[in-house]
Amino acid sequence: MAVATDREYGLFINGELVEPASGELRDLTEPATGNPLGRAAMAGEADIDRAVEAARAALDGPWGKTPPTERSRLLHALADAIVANRKELADLEVRNVGKALSSVKAEVNQAVENFRFYASAIASIAGRSNQLGGSLLFYSLKEPVGVAGQIVPWNYPLMMTTWKLAPALAAGCPVVLKPDSATPLTALRLGELASEVGFPPGAVNIVPGPGKTTGAYLVKHPGVDKIAFTGSTETGGEIMRLASGPIKRLTLELGGKSPSLVFADANLDDAIPSSVWSIYYSAGQSCEARSRVLVERSIYDEFVKKFSELADRLRVGDPLDPETQVGSLISAAHRDKVHGHVEQGRGEGAEVVTGGAIGEGKGAFYPPTVLAGVESSMSVAQEEIFGPVVTLIPFEDEKDAIRIANDVQYGLMATVWTGDPARGHRVASRIKAGTVGINMPYTAFPGIPFGGYKQSGFGRELGLETLDLYLETKSVLVSTSPKPFNPFGL
Ligand code: NAD
Repeated sequence: MAVATDREYGLFINGELVEPASGELRDLTEPATGNPLGRAAMAGEADIDRAVEAARAALDGPWGKTPPTERSRLLHALADAIVANRKELADLEVRNVGKALSSVKAEVNQAVENFRFYASAIASIAGRSNQLGGSLLFYSLKEPVGVAGQIVPWNYPLMMTTWKLAPALAAGCPVVLKPDSATPLTALRLGELASEVGFPPGAVNIVPGPGKTTGAYLVKHPGVDKIAFTGSTETGGEIMRLASGPIKRLTLELGGKSPSLVFADANLDDAIPSSVWSIYYSAGQSCEARSRVLVERSIYDEFVKKFSELADRLRVGDPLDPETQVGSLISAAHRDKVHGHVEQGRGEGAEVVTGGAIGEGKGAFYPPTVLAGVESSMSVAQEEIFGPVVTLIPFEDEKDAIRIANDVQYGLMATVWTGDPARGHRVASRIKAGTVGINMPYTAFPGIPFGGYKQSGFGRELGLETLDLYLETKSVLVSTSPKPFNPFGL
């Protein structure tokens, strides 16, 4: 079995592609065309056992003995390998996920930058020391937390895999990573590349499989010390329950329903196209999609008109066409779910200004959709739709805008559009979200911590802080006294 040759994709365990113990293969489909894409092996419990065993052997063996300088070199080498194979990776991702090539190219670039960032960040892994007075010297050691079990979703299979792998490997943890069973291809290829550039067997294991069985088994596995999960809030809650018995280290990157706040003093020539990008990038299948756009009442009608005109102009279609801006959704079933949300919103009184209908053809396409006249309490303004659907909500003043922005269970991201810098900072400080942009739509950069408040999860990715989530801190106390301590005076 090999990736991208005979179109049967194996599991990547202990440095090689292998058959699954169960022999189970899943048919993959190109969401944009409905055409078959090949068949991927699905890991079962025996495969997870094998992968965890390989990871533990790597931790106790060659990977555990690999010094930070060598880990840094390997991460740079993996970044170079992604650059050398960027076309193949982008093509696999587009075919497997259906998202536009123009988006995927940016994501492949970010995958490279992630490895480069953590290759450098390794230098910051250091304990501290302190002369505490008297005869007490203290120093701390930073040690890898152990085997990291990582679970990623289907919306950014390559990028999410690199968000997870890079800090774990930088910290010295071996990894068992489970991609979504529908979108395993780029993660498997990355596993192969890791092996080719010299990561020792067992340091990187990629085991796609169904979440409820294989994923849950990985979470509970006694050989796994830490779980890092990205996915829905509902699944995050389930994983928290599973991980609570054995008290596993846990980080959760969960769902979002993020706002843009557009004040009347904003530069609308920037705020409107940027807000269009912020929801329709990746066809809205982004955790940080700004799907609640709050607009000051005095400019609301003008905003709805201009925003809808731009949404209508987006080029939706063949994701491999470099001119395409919005590709297909992940599957026809997901498209139907998105449409169900829109219908529910319509029923609750939202006005569908543009989009909102399923077209002809085999691909899982859904048009950029604008819902106006939305109130914050409506289901379309509260639930994560995870598709190209925006809700435009009017507000009266700054206090009202902040109230509506925080009136949701999630807290991942927000963008404030204003011509008043003081207001920008004031509002940013009052929004309960892990990242706030001021006149800046982009959200995720290697080096800048990314993660959630409230039910968007806990822990941070992409930052220096992330390394600590893969490390234990050991305090070492040293007596420098020439005399014995003998605390009981015996
Ligand atoms: P999901 O929760 O259904 O699945 C995510 C992953 O978890 C998949 O690999 C799946 O197989 C696995 N899984 C499912 N049930 C499991 C279980 N019981 N035990 C262990 N693993 C299990 O999510 P999804 O629909 O694939 O992804 C979309 C969600 O991910 C959205 O809510 C989105 O907001 C979120 N997301 C968050 C971030 C972030 O950084 N906060 C980034 C991307 C996506």
